Amino acid sequence: MGYEPRVEIDLAGAGKQVGRVVFPLDEPFQGRSEIALPVCVIANGKGPAVSLWGGNHGDEYEGPTVMGQLARELDPAAVEGRLLILPAINPPALQNRSRTSPIDGKNMNRVWPGDRQGTITERIVAWLADSVLPASDVLMDCHTGGDALELIPMSMSHHTDDAAERARITAAHLSFNAPLCVELRLGANRATAAGCAHERGLLVIGSESGGGHPVSPASLANCYFGIRNTLAHLEMLPAPPAPGRPRHATRFTRKWGHQAEMLSDSDGIFIPFRGLWDEVEEGEPAGQIIPRDQPFEAPRTLHFPASGLIAGRAARSGVAAGDVLYWVVRDAEG
Ligand SMILES: [Zn+2]
Repeated sequence: MGYEPRVEIDLAGAGKQVGRVVFPLDEPFQGRSEIALPVCVIANGKGPAVSLWGGNHGDEYEGPTVMGQLARELDPAAVEGRLLILPAINPPALQNRSRTSPIDGKNMNRVWPGDRQGTITERIVAWLADSVLPASDVLMDCHTGGDALELIPMSMSHHTDDAAERARITAAHLSFNAPLCVELRLGANRATAAGCAHERGLLVIGSESGGGHPVSPASLANCYFGIRNTLAHLEMLPAPPAPGRPRHATRFTRKWGHQAEMLSDSDGIFIPFRGLWDEVEEGEPAGQIIPRDQPFEAPRTLHFPASGLIAGRAARSGVAAGDVLYWVVRDAEG
């Protein structure tokens, strides 16, 4: 079995090309013997190389939708640099409408940097890590809260102690112009695409364009204008197409440590007390849990583990142990 994918276009070529990156499967899955990632390269002139990724999780649709639109509408002559657009890096999950791959059960954002001899999710990640990241100066990895989480539309950055690098990251996230920017400090074992790219020195703009609801004009606009604004900031494209639109005053926050994510400690029915944009205090009641199989049991009250701003909340009341109930972030300064 050959583990190298078949790349049907020249990723280093000029102009606009559309094609596929095809991974043969060890064994057929639901009648398919290969997995194909759609890919579009738009290249011209001397600007930076930017990779745009969508569909890392298969229940997140803004990235694939917006990247398809960008691939259709961008004129290569107007681009300065190289855009490598991969709108659906996890096709089995997208086709299955699930966060994880139905073939191997893996979460594509927890297996970085992948394994060329591993399962299909690990093999796709190994190709992205070994072939795409080294050819990129910038990574934009576009997510949403999917079916499970409603999120304030946000861009996500990674912490660095280097002041010049921090200024470069901040400028890019200001240009993305989401209502919220959340800075992460990941542990060494948190094997995400953005974390891996950041460690390798790429400029990373992750995004979460809402979630917990169907794709909407507002969630698509957050993703679309975020990408267009950032490409304009990188001087790859002319100024954004709607310069007169209202701009957000991006609030810079941070999310790290276990207390930033409040997880459910049991299966049950979750009754939240607070919502997005609420400011909460540590110890304040956050909601109640009732065991699904014990409806006569009194609800148990949960409390916020930390003070801060609610940036995310469970999008459904049927929760399992370990599900995220809230994201609580703090202002970057403070
Ligand atoms: Zn995601």
